[in-house]
Amino acid sequence: MSDVAVDLRSDTVTRPTAGMREAMARAEVGDDVYGEDPTVRALEERVAALLGHEAALFTPTGSLANVLALQGLVRPGQEVLCAADAHIARAELGVHGAVSGLTMRTWTDGPLALDQIRDLHAPDLGPFFVPTAAVSVENTHNLSGGAVLPLAELEELRAWADAHGIRLHLDGARLWNAAVATGVDMAAYGRLFDAVAVCLSKGLGAPIGSLVVGSADHIAQARVWRKRLGGGMRQVGVLAAAGLYALDHHVDRLADDHAHARLLAEACGVDTATVATNMVLVHDVDVAAFVAACAAEGIAVSAVGPRTVRLVTHLDVTRDQVELARPVLARALASTRPTAAGS
Ligand SMILES: *Cc1c(COP(=O)(O)O)cnc(C)c1O
Repeated sequence: MSDVAVDLRSDTVTRPTAGMREAMARAEVGDDVYGEDPTVRALEERVAALLGHEAALFTPTGSLANVLALQGLVRPGQEVLCAADAHIARAELGVHGAVSGLTMRTWTDGPLALDQIRDLHAPDLGPFFVPTAAVSVENTHNLSGGAVLPLAELEELRAWADAHGIRLHLDGARLWNAAVATGVDMAAYGRLFDAVAVCLSKGLGAPIGSLVVGSADHIAQARVWRKRLGGGMRQVGVLAAAGLYALDHHVDRLADDHAHARLLAEACGVDTATVATNMVLVHDVDVAAFVAACAAEGIAVSAVGPRTVRLVTHLDVTRDQVELARPVLARALASTRPTAAGS
């Protein structure tokens, strides 16, 4: 995209900062397939502890982290339940079925619909039916606009899962945003799940990198599957160093992204109470016209539904850029959704 002054499409568009690049250049490295990269090991140990689990494994992408997480919880021919708009169902292009042999059924009533989950749950009825092995939730929930799942409801899910022998997976690509928004400890979320995937390449601003977190046995198996799937990496301490740097420098500042998102929401007449973290969903717009009107003034936004646009704040969006974007967004909205203008 040329001539973009403010890129609000996604928090994946960040570029590594000078400080991060220095940390990457200085990183001690070794062959990580041999388990000899000290920087990768430091990152894995740090993130496992942060989430209250025994072990963690560095992966190139969050999608691979989700594959390795679910594969340890769900055997071929079993199913995972998830939200209809979960990243694992909508954005991982069928990998969980193709590679892991699991099936999915989905609930439609929001990011964590406990009643629907209880209704969908399929007990083991013998060899010719698919039993439910796991439930997967996303926190924050991307396609619901960065929504945070309430801790009390997650605890209720855990209690139900324990009573039914169900394993729990957390797609925590943006769990850092949830922790900063609520003040809930990462480990308080992490301990409720059997396996967790987290990303360093979203709000934390690393160029690449995710981790799958779980028990020592699960992660030992994930290490084998990562290699089998072509994800065994060598001197990747240079990448892990970016993640360690991000953990030191880019977590607390997520609060700025959340404040910026609320400012953008105000400009679009969106109720700031619906903005929990770093995303704003603007509903009921002529998407093509809105995106084009913004682009004409250097503001990049993305369409996420037939009448819904998403704005995402991140490390590379400054307060000045937010102030620059606000009137443009308001004008674009007024010209493409006339009935809402001035209301
Ligand atoms: C980005 C993201 C992932 C991982 O995506 P990759 O592009 O594979 O790193 C997983 N879950 C959610 C909710 C995400 O937003």
